[in-house]
Amino acid sequence: MSPPIDITKFEHLKASGDLPSPKGVALAIIRLTRKDDLSLAELARVIKTDPAFVGRLVKSANSAGVGARRPIASVQDALMVLGLPAVRNMALGFSLLSNYRNGGCANFNYERYWSGALVMALAAQAIGQRVHCAAADEMFCLGLLSRVGELALATLYPKEYSAVLVEAGASGGGLVAREQQAFAMNHRELTAVMLADWGLPKLFFEPAAYFEVPDEAPFGEGSRGAQIVAALSLADTICALCMAEPAARHALIETLYLRGQCLSLDEETLNAMCDQVVEEWGEWGRMLRVATHAVPPLASVAASAATSAGTVRHEGRDGVVAAEAPVIARPKGAAAMRVVVVDDDGEVRRTLRGLLERAGHLVFEADNGRHGMELALEVQPQMMLVDANMPEMGGLDLTRALRQTRIGRTIYILLLTSLEDEERLIEAFENGVDDFVAKPIRPRVLAARLRAGHRVIRLQQEVEREREEIRRFAAELAVTNRRLQEVALTDQLTGFPNRRYAIERIEQEWASATRSRRPLSCMVIDIDEFKQINDTYGHDVGDTVLRQASIAIKNGLRSQDVVARTGGDEFLVLCPDTELGAALRCAERLRQSVHAAKVLAGGVKLRVSVSVGVAQRDKSMNDADAMVKRADQGAYVAKAQGRNKVSSVQLSAVADPPGVVKKSQIQPMGGAQVDVPPTAKVKQSPQ
Ligand code: GH3
Ligand code: MG
Repeated sequence: MSPPIDITKFEHLKASGDLPSPKGVALAIIRLTRKDDLSLAELARVIKTDPAFVGRLVKSANSAGVGARRPIASVQDALMVLGLPAVRNMALGFSLLSNYRNGGCANFNYERYWSGALVMALAAQAIGQRVHCAAADEMFCLGLLSRVGELALATLYPKEYSAVLVEAGASGGGLVAREQQAFAMNHRELTAVMLADWGLPKLFFEPAAYFEVPDEAPFGEGSRGAQIVAALSLADTICALCMAEPAARHALIETLYLRGQCLSLDEETLNAMCDQVVEEWGEWGRMLRVATHAVPPLASVAASAATSAGTVRHEGRDGVVAAEAPVIARPKGAAAMRVVVVDDDGEVRRTLRGLLERAGHLVFEADNGRHGMELALEVQPQMMLVDANMPEMGGLDLTRALRQTRIGRTIYILLLTSLEDEERLIEAFENGVDDFVAKPIRPRVLAARLRAGHRVIRLQQEVEREREEIRRFAAELAVTNRRLQEVALTDQLTGFPNRRYAIERIEQEWASATRSRRPLSCMVIDIDEFKQINDTYGHDVGDTVLRQASIAIKNGLRSQDVVARTGGDEFLVLCPDTELGAALRCAERLRQSVHAAKVLAGGVKLRVSVSVGVAQRDKSMNDADAMVKRADQGAYVAKAQGRNKVSSVQLSAVADPPGVVKKSQIQPMGGAQVDVPPTAKVKQSPQ
């Protein structure tokens, strides 16, 4: 397949810098995943700098069907489960979502675009789980980006594209033709080129150009390309159903079932799948701040569709009614199967094809075992009819080889053989054959064997569905557990991590600093005269002050610092990879941030200040506790010095940042002796 649009032209657009592109952390992730010597630890470190992406990644890893057998809670585990391509593409998709929520194209509905992209992603993922055309999480990314060409046109040519959208809307369709006319390219082609440029495999970017017009797709019948087109077309219909006005939904049901049939998905499966997609749409929408809405259970939409007779009106995504197509009768009961017939005798193949096609199945042929193997891996049939004796790779060798592959393990294999050789028949079953049909084949016997095979396949599919349910249940449980864990480690008043979290975290940071020999500092922050606020204005005002002070504290910190509320008006800050001097400067900035904040509580304006003690890990300390004690002593000194101060009892080793109190500067207040704790060894700074 040749590149759909002029590559030089695309390079030109790219060079203009106006094409939608990933930014920030996502860009760093994408670059890192391109490195040959990438370490997962390094990638995890970069990912952790974007907490929102961490949440999305962990949620994906816990999604049903992705393959995790146990709840995934860490970035490292999520990386292992999802694999690099999926993580890279997720970074890409979510980065575009964050950076292109709005834009200058007046008639391009950005909110609707992302809402649709999200359903498309979830539907593609759900279909991927069931038909195994590609890894489910990779299908998610492909779905999310499947119309990125539209976003690109809206970004590149905001004014012109706005006009194109109006014209296409007014004339009732023809968006692609109008795009072509206005820009000498269209969103379908542009999507494919952009996906190719971002490094998505050919298997994905080619189908992306065709899923809106599956009949024009140039892929061979039963090929993976064709399957991915079929999967995306079905996802597109689910997307259209979710986005459609309630009254317009029932017109899409017939298309949905027809497209489902191409992938051997029966109505019951499709109904359940759509309901699952709608539920996940809501959950993901809340997390990504993307608009979603409720859609009634599909079975009820289908029931109301059944009452409206006549013709099916295919509604395009733009809400445009396109061609009219006659209702095609669907075979009732079981879904059609993909069946591969492997026999060196062309006459036998033809006869079997006739019988199978009359029963409504989709048939593929191979003339020897080797070709049969290739075809099976490509088509992924539910059933194979395999001749025992063939010159090149017989039925038994083929069965043995298939059973060693993931795809071949579950195929129902019917051996075509003569009954004469009992030993060979036993050997065949031992090699993984499920049943046999004696040659010469008698149609009634074959039909009975096929029905038996079909029953087994359906049971297998039911088991698979139940397993999926269990996986989904386990994933939901994991999410609930994670939420509970979060609650247990979070302070409800400020939303900061609590003392328990701080204890665990400081141990981790201590161990990490020991391993890496990197510096580690911490701060103890205590609000000044907080009791007085409580006593004067009441506890509720005190709570509000605490909340507002915590915001000011957070604002004064750097992104790598970790803050926790460790007591009533006391906070602990961990500063990884930070020397005492830098920690003191940061503490001073934080002190000023709190002091400058306008705290409004209970109708009164209050000025709040904090005293901060800072310490750096040094050789004299045996554990993290010793470091916190040092910081505590610093806070004590700051209080003694008159409050609203930053102090450290280790100060002599560093230059003095402004506003920082050294122990040597402490003067007794009002004649009282300052009580420095006996453990505080105060070094005198050089004067
Ligand atoms: P200092 O400047 O020496 O720190 O004086 P202080 O008044 O702030 O003294 P201290 O830090 O010992 O007082 C903390 C007070 O915080 C005591 C307690 O009543 C109050 N407190 C603890 N938890 C909460 C809370 O959740 N809400 C409110 N409103 N007050 C709390
Ligand atoms: Mg206090």
